[in-house]
Amino acid sequence: MKYCRMEVDGNAVWGLVEERAGALWITAQLDSPWKTEPVALLAEPLLLSQARLLAPVAPTKIVCVGRNYRDHAKELGNEVPTEPLLFFKPPSSLLGHGGVVRMPSVSSRVDFEGELAIVIARRIHKFCPEQDVHSCIHGVTVANDVTARDLQKKDGQWTRAKGFDTFCPVGPIVETSIPAQAIAAGLVVETRVNGDLRQHGSTADFIFALPELLAYITAAITLEPGDLLLTGTPAGVGPVRPGDTVEISVAGVGSLRNSFAAEAAH
Ligand code: ZN
Repeated sequence: MKYCRMEVDGNAVWGLVEERAGALWITAQLDSPWKTEPVALLAEPLLLSQARLLAPVAPTKIVCVGRNYRDHAKELGNEVPTEPLLFFKPPSSLLGHGGVVRMPSVSSRVDFEGELAIVIARRIHKFCPEQDVHSCIHGVTVANDVTARDLQKKDGQWTRAKGFDTFCPVGPIVETSIPAQAIAAGLVVETRVNGDLRQHGSTADFIFALPELLAYITAAITLEPGDLLLTGTPAGVGPVRPGDTVEISVAGVGSLRNSFAAEAAH
């Protein structure tokens, strides 16, 4: 199943997404992504590309993994980590497909980071890597872990650098039919800036695979249904300029596109 979240008359609504004749259409309204029975069919199916899309998630928290691809750890001059490196992005940083990332005036370098994101299916506490990973995954989507690289270095803590409003574009849809084995076998993650390919990685190259990540995270933090896990970015990160468009695609999942603009002066 594919689903989205959209704005209708000022309200956030979940939508069922179906492929018809090669295009994605929103065909019905869902009560929630956990209840897959449509509550109402749309009178007229709506092209996904014409909807006002919101991030298709409503997490209590967004848990992120830093430096989970060897090549990316090295490109920033960091050691390959021996344990997962975790940080949070606040839910207030979420932005939908097509939304504009606002570049804060206090930063002079804002980077894109294309990532596979996992929507958590159930409450998970102290996960054992031997347990069934697939039951932990409600679906997968695409995320941009937008980062104010200069503030990340300056602050030491990453909260501000990763947490500005609009710094977590997610979408356009959540795809629930991707098995955990497909993530382990390798989904291709690519990022294009104004159409130029900048990142090309495979989730087969994770330093820490999903079972290890879930075990490490939930040894400390209970994950709730709907929480979002950003799995790290491959090599090729770089700065964006106002006016740039960043498109991140994950094979079999979708393409997330957002433009960047300097924040308006107060
Ligand atoms: Zn990242």
